[in-house]
Amino acid sequence: MWSKLFLILSVLVVCSSKTSANSEKPEYALVIHGGAGAITPDKLTPEQEKGIKSTLHKALTKGKSILENGGTSLDAVTATIMILENSPYFNAGRGAVFTSEGKNELDSSIMDGHTLNAGAVSGVTNIKNPITAARLVMEKSPHVMLQGPGAVAFAEKNGVETAPDKYFFTEKRWQSHKKGLKKKAANLPVPQNYKYGTVGAAAMDKHGNLVAGTSTGGMTNKSHGRVGDSPIIGAGTYANNNSCALSATGHGEYFIRHTVASRICLLVEIGGISLQEAADKVVMQQLVEAGGDGGIVAVDKSGEMALVFNSDGMYRGSVSSLQDAKVAIYKN
Ligand code: ASP
Repeated sequence: MWSKLFLILSVLVVCSSKTSANSEKPEYALVIHGGAGAITPDKLTPEQEKGIKSTLHKALTKGKSILENGGTSLDAVTATIMILENSPYFNAGRGAVFTSEGKNELDSSIMDGHTLNAGAVSGVTNIKNPITAARLVMEKSPHVMLQGPGAVAFAEKNGVETAPDKYFFTEKRWQSHKKGLKKKAANLPVPQNYKYGTVGAAAMDKHGNLVAGTSTGGMTNKSHGRVGDSPIIGAGTYANNNSCALSATGHGEYFIRHTVASRICLLVEIGGISLQEAADKVVMQQLVEAGGDGGIVAVDKSGEMALVFNSDGMYRGSVSSLQDAKVAIYKN
C-alpha cells in the first residue's frame, strides 16, 4: 500500500513541476540597452547616474504598458527606443556623437521576427527619431536599407518628424569631438576606451512575436559616411520568431565582421544551446578574442532574456510579466 501511495505522490510531483515549468514562460518580455563601454562608477556623477537610470526605467515602463495591454512588440520596441533617443544621455537621436566633420549622422534599424521584414536607415541627418524612419522603410518601402539624403527624403515624404541641427547638439559630445580632433592633430593615440551610447531594445509580445531595434549616432569622430553595425541586419539587430530578437552595442566594425546578432540567434535555433550560452560564446569568447568590446540584449522565443557585455559596463534594463522592471549600469 505504501509503495502505491509513493507512486501516486511521485506522479503528482512530476505533473506539478511540469506545470510550474510551463508557467515559467512569461507572457511578454522586454530588454533594453543604452550602450556599453568604459563605464565605471568614477565616470558618472550621482546626478548623471540617477538621470540615466530613471530614463531607462521610463523607457521600460512605456514598453511594458504596451506589452501588458496586448500591444505588439513592434510598437513596444519603437516607443521604448524613442524615449531613449529623446534623452541627451544616450548616443542616439538627441545625444548623438559628432563625426570628424562636426556633424550628427544617425543610423538605425528594426526587424520583425514574425515576417522577417526589416528596415534601416544610415547616415541620416535631422531626423528626430531615426527608429521611426527605419520602421517606415520596413513598412512603406520595398527595401531594407536607405541611406543619406535619399533616406531623409523618403522619411520626410512619409511624415517623419525632423529637428534642426541645434536639437542634436550636446556640450558633452561636442567636447569629446574636439578632444579627439586635438589628439589626432597632435598625432597622439585616440583612446579606444569609448563609451558606446547606442540604444536598443528587443521584445516578445503576448502573441509570441519577437522584434528588435537599434539606434545610434555611431562612434565619436567617425569618418563622414562611415556605417556601423547598428543599421545592419544580422550585425547590430536581428529578430526571428524561431530563435531570438537581439540588439547590440559596441565597436561596430567587430560586430559586423562577426555577424554578432544573427550568429547568436542561429546558435539558439540550430546550435541547440540556450540564449545565455549563445550570447556568452559570441560576446564573451569570440568578440573578446578578436578585441571587439561591447554587449547585447536579447530575448528568445520562450521569453528568456539575456543581457551580456564584455566591457566595464552597459546601461541596461529588463522587464517581463514575471519580473518587475530592473535597471543597471555596472558589472554585477
Ligand atoms: N555600435 C555602434 C557603432 O559602431 C556604436 C555603439 O554601440 O555605441 O556605430
